[in-house]
Amino acid sequence: MKFSALKLHPTLLRGVEDLKFERPTPIQSQAIPPALKGRDLLACAVTGSGKTAAFLLPILHELTDKPRGTTRALVIAPTRELALQIVDDLNALARHTGIKGAPVYGGVKMGAQQKAFRQGVDIIVATPGRLLDHFQYGYAKLSGLEYLVLDEADRMLDMGFLPDIRRVLKHIPKPKQTFFFSATMPPPIETLARGILRNPAKIALQRRAAPAEGVIQAVYPVPASLKKKLLVELFTRGHMEDALVFTRTKHRANQLTKVLNRNGISAERIHGNRSQAQRTKALAGFKAGKFRVLVATDIAARGIDVEALGHVVNFDIPGLPEDYIHRVGRTARAELTGEAFTLVTPEDEVTLRRIERTIGSKINRVLLENFSYEVARETAASSTSDRRNGNRTGSDNRQSQKQGNRSRRGGGNREATTGAGRSRNQRRRRGRR
Ligand code: AMP
Repeated sequence: MKFSALKLHPTLLRGVEDLKFERPTPIQSQAIPPALKGRDLLACAVTGSGKTAAFLLPILHELTDKPRGTTRALVIAPTRELALQIVDDLNALARHTGIKGAPVYGGVKMGAQQKAFRQGVDIIVATPGRLLDHFQYGYAKLSGLEYLVLDEADRMLDMGFLPDIRRVLKHIPKPKQTFFFSATMPPPIETLARGILRNPAKIALQRRAAPAEGVIQAVYPVPASLKKKLLVELFTRGHMEDALVFTRTKHRANQLTKVLNRNGISAERIHGNRSQAQRTKALAGFKAGKFRVLVATDIAARGIDVEALGHVVNFDIPGLPEDYIHRVGRTARAELTGEAFTLVTPEDEVTLRRIERTIGSKINRVLLENFSYEVARETAASSTSDRRNGNRTGSDNRQSQKQGNRSRRGGGNREATTGAGRSRNQRRRRGRR
């Protein structure tokens, strides 16, 4: 299908062309036609699927010929990064239309945002908490609202925002159309959706069970004490040029950033303790290629959009399979391919198996050749990594070649090989982190 088949306003099609989108992604070709017919939408979609344009294009189409000066659409998103990203996408798509969007999120002064409300900017993209702050004042009535979008609704649930969402819904007039987007549909989200949608068109409602097809996934078994060293090696040996690297905590993000920089791999970090200005600067620096690595915690990384991101690294394995899928969804964005590496300690095996069960396949184990896993042997004589290392087989090496051929940036010269058997009795149960 071509974009022209969607019968969008010609000025929008020019915006789409500028962005070099050749054809609609599946979510776009399924969501846009019913939305243009006036239907509500209930869509399962993850970052990377093209979901933002799927809800923005029908709204922009409707607003194009309407007079400016009234806020007619409200998009609610869980994080400021996602809100900013949506506004960026909006301004790019709407470039030739005169339609404007403004972000509204916490951690910055209210003044500029207040002005956006007063001027009736066409589309407000807001996080729930700050939106409620504005609702205390008369200028934030949104009485002309026609379109409402809830984006990443399941993440809003995870972050405890559902009560805020309900408060927002009470405050605003009933919209003409509501678009509801969520990666998963846990029961509280289904209930919320049922309460606010009228006969919605349902799109891709089966729960997304695996990362996009273009993502090549690999697991690097490694003792905890060697994780940083292994990551540094992966960069210095050219397995990755740049990457978004996830850590479990803010503290670990800080530590890892320091180690990378000390080893000549330029890195910045974003997490909840960093100010908005610092986060924006770090993200912009990464996008511009100023830093090779952006180290992030989950929440901070939500909604980050970096074009053609080649690599995502789970420095710490995510506790929940859904988070694995979300993280890995940052690479192989819309039709590109990417690689997702996960460093896995013996203690992480249980979590890894849970992830593999959810995605329905086993992820390749990869060992880095000529990397000294020795320290572990001395410090933890019974570590499973010993056996893994000493147990390389011919079939593993064949696997290694396959991996090398598929590597985008490894230049086909990847020194990795799939890990062999692992000791089951070494695995320890761990609670959810
Ligand atoms: P999203 O899922 O909305 O976060 O979009 C992911 C990425 O895909 C963004 O970088 C978009 O600019 C890009 N994108 C969205 N729609 C298309 C399309 N039809 N063709 C190519 N890229 C797209």
